[in-house]
Amino acid sequence: MTRKRKPKLAVWKFASCDGCQLSLLDCEDELLTVVDEVEIAYFLEASRAVVKGPYDLSLVEGSITTPLDVRRIQQVRQASKFLVTIGACATAGGIQALRNFKDINEFISVVYARPEYIETLDKSTPIANHVFVDFELRGCPINKRQLIEVISAFLQGRKPNTPAHSVCIECKLRGTVCVMVAHGTPCLGPITHTGCGAICPSYHRGCYGCFGPMETPNTASLSAWWSRLGAKEQDILRVFRGFNAYAEAFRKESEVHEK
Ligand code: SF4
Ligand code: SF4
Repeated sequence: MTRKRKPKLAVWKFASCDGCQLSLLDCEDELLTVVDEVEIAYFLEASRAVVKGPYDLSLVEGSITTPLDVRRIQQVRQASKFLVTIGACATAGGIQALRNFKDINEFISVVYARPEYIETLDKSTPIANHVFVDFELRGCPINKRQLIEVISAFLQGRKPNTPAHSVCIECKLRGTVCVMVAHGTPCLGPITHTGCGAICPSYHRGCYGCFGPMETPNTASLSAWWSRLGAKEQDILRVFRGFNAYAEAFRKESEVHEK
């Protein structure tokens, strides 16, 4: 009897800190089951062994920051049946997208002894700006349970069951007292994508938006509430200029407070 071929999984890295790839290695209990179901064909963080493509599912971490990245992501797309981006760098440009608001040549001239050796783009951009992406998984880093759900969904040919509502809903579900209402602590939860389990409010801290914008975020309304709680324009600008600074909703709101 011929054995059914296992789907090939590839994990690719672009400009990033590797934290989202580590989330896969951090799956411990679930990892053995994943390895049973898929052939890990390309995952340099875990193994030097490489199996040639094409690949059934590619997970892509990191943003596009160099001309080489632009060429490489095209090749990854061509070699992949499904391509899923993981984390704030891949889905929004990451913390390195803070350069997008400044003159990159100034940075290069100050940081590098030989700027002429540096070949870079003037912006850090998400993968979806360059190739078609089948699904975006948010977070900085991503939630490992959501990652397992996304891998399972693509292997089973269904849509991932990962909600797109705000962190506030997670506070309600776990019974966390709202830090904005109870203590007047500014919180980005009402406009931030769910996925973390509302960790920060459960420790009496405001959310700072590491999962990026939820669907249809009302950023202007939240900024007005932050002002009423005493936040200055500079504070509001800075809170939108975090790991997801170049996500459209956060970028536009930050620009309002830059004027
Ligand atoms: S603490 Fe933040 S995330 Fe939680 S309900 Fe209040 S505003 Fe929403
Ligand atoms: S900053 Fe917000 S989205 Fe990130 S872990 Fe804290 S509560 Fe969750």
